Amino acid sequence: VISFPSKLLEEAVNEFAKLPGIGRRTAMRMVLHLLKEKEEKSTALGKAIISVRQNIRYCDICHNISETEICSLCNDNSRDNSLICVVEDIRDVMAIESTNQYKGVYHVLNGIISPMDGIGPNELNIESLVKRISDNYVKEIIMALSTTIEGDTTIFYIYKRLKDFNISFSTIAKGVAIGDELEYTDEITLGRSIVNRIPYDYSILKI
Ligand SMILES: [Zn+2]
Repeated sequence: VISFPSKLLEEAVNEFAKLPGIGRRTAMRMVLHLLKEKEEKSTALGKAIISVRQNIRYCDICHNISETEICSLCNDNSRDNSLICVVEDIRDVMAIESTNQYKGVYHVLNGIISPMDGIGPNELNIESLVKRISDNYVKEIIMALSTTIEGDTTIFYIYKRLKDFNISFSTIAKGVAIGDELEYTDEITLGRSIVNRIPYDYSILKI
């Protein structure tokens, strides 16, 4: 147990240590670093944290990060609204956008079905996808989820929910890292996997 010379220092270290991937040792280094730097640096950091939390919201249509009710991608008339790419989280939208190969819109699930972690379909943005498809003309759904058991389960669940709609259902090529492995995917491979997406065949699943 570390004995802190100041209660304020201890509180700051505790807060930093709550962030993902930051252990107590790193948290301590960060706080001591800020104390050594000019006060403006800490003020800027504090302001950025408060501002991002207060001013960023999620798009009413696709659940992407937005500063307005409807995000800039959903508002873009040059994009094809009848083509929806379903992704696990916002990082996937950013990765696919950086390929410059996709001109449809998105639907961010905010996770994948994972009974082990207590995440069922109701915890995800699936009902809003169903509603979106029943209220609008949608030609194709592209599932761009990780190729894990959880990813496959989620794809199959959404496929079942949507199979009565007259829409094409496709997935990106197997083996393309997405979701948690996103940082290992290069833009060319990811871009190609969207362009060369394959029709979904649930019969190949061993469910
Ligand atoms: Zn949107």
